[in-house]
Amino acid sequence: MTKKLPEISTLIRELIALPSVSSSDPKIDRSNLGVIHLLAEWLENLGFSITVHEVAAGKANLLARLGGEGYVREGLVLSGHTDTVPFDEGQWSCDPFGGIERDGRLYGLGSCDMKTFFALAIEAARSFDAKSLRRPLTLVATADEESTMAGAKYLLAHGLKPGRYAIIGEPTGLKPIRMHKGVMMESIRVTGHSGHASDPSLGANAIEGMHRVIGELLAWRTELQAKHRNPLFKVDVPTLNFGAIHGGDNPNRICGHCELLIDIRPLPGMDILELRQTMEARLAEALADFPKLRVETHPLHDGVPAFESPADSDIVRACEAFSGFAADAVAFGTEAPFFSNLGVETVVLGVGNINQAHQPDEYLPLEQVTPMVNILKSLIGRFCVQRE
Ligand SMILES: [Zn+2]
Repeated sequence: MTKKLPEISTLIRELIALPSVSSSDPKIDRSNLGVIHLLAEWLENLGFSITVHEVAAGKANLLARLGGEGYVREGLVLSGHTDTVPFDEGQWSCDPFGGIERDGRLYGLGSCDMKTFFALAIEAARSFDAKSLRRPLTLVATADEESTMAGAKYLLAHGLKPGRYAIIGEPTGLKPIRMHKGVMMESIRVTGHSGHASDPSLGANAIEGMHRVIGELLAWRTELQAKHRNPLFKVDVPTLNFGAIHGGDNPNRICGHCELLIDIRPLPGMDILELRQTMEARLAEALADFPKLRVETHPLHDGVPAFESPADSDIVRACEAFSGFAADAVAFGTEAPFFSNLGVETVVLGVGNINQAHQPDEYLPLEQVTPMVNILKSLIGRFCVQRE
């Protein structure tokens, strides 16, 4: 049964036309309410019941549910983020909000990452009648994935488990993904005392302390990499990158402050808080014999946990069967760990390639549209219609 909605390419274009950039820079950060309201209108038209949760001023999540009366927290969830990254003015060869089609590609900000997924989910959902769904089909649209993950965090903080199984439609080129690494970005500050370079006893040198810190971090990295390994990842060990260092001002002054910025990518099974505590304890210990130096660590953001769904999970198996690809691992972070932490068995699976995301002339390869709609229809049939 097809209900009265525009065809799929029009849905995609209308979503792309509504700016919803999210950024930590308030000058370019935009509301996502335009996208939320448009989705609400379309989904209501298809018979979904809609709930909108305000996450922050001008930012909202949408939960839309079809069928499966009485089965709360069951069924299939199709989830995506409504926001996009900012775009480089002048570096696009076409209008980032235009949704122009050229040579089998549809160009636009969010075409691949990931507004198209909502249009595909709607296209798949419109061929089902609410009465035929034994368990609910729930569409989730979140806010601010690209900046703070506030939308996914809101779901977790409020215990809003939207269903039993979830597909997060990030660009994976139609391949199911069942694990990714986490991301942590940390600042480490060593504070000493400045003084005249001619007499070391006049100060406490923060650069010399940082030398000790770096040595300790390298030793810790070696230990972590010896202990944790996962062959599904291209880089099969956790990484620790030294990204930036700033300290001191003049050769003839003892350096009083030094700051190091690092990026850690933990494997599934490694806990962010535990890593932070270990790092803090090890660095304090490393500088224990420098009583005039103080070392402090603090996270630059909360961090994104690593994510893993078991290989034998029903949703992983179903995605493998319907896509024809074995489940794999990727290097980028998603909202999946927040769904996992709510007890939702989750797979990341969508159209487009992550290499096209976050850059000028982002596009959707149109030949992936029909296969993805068919995968989603099969998943809805399997998890919402079929008897358990
Ligand atoms: Zn994304």
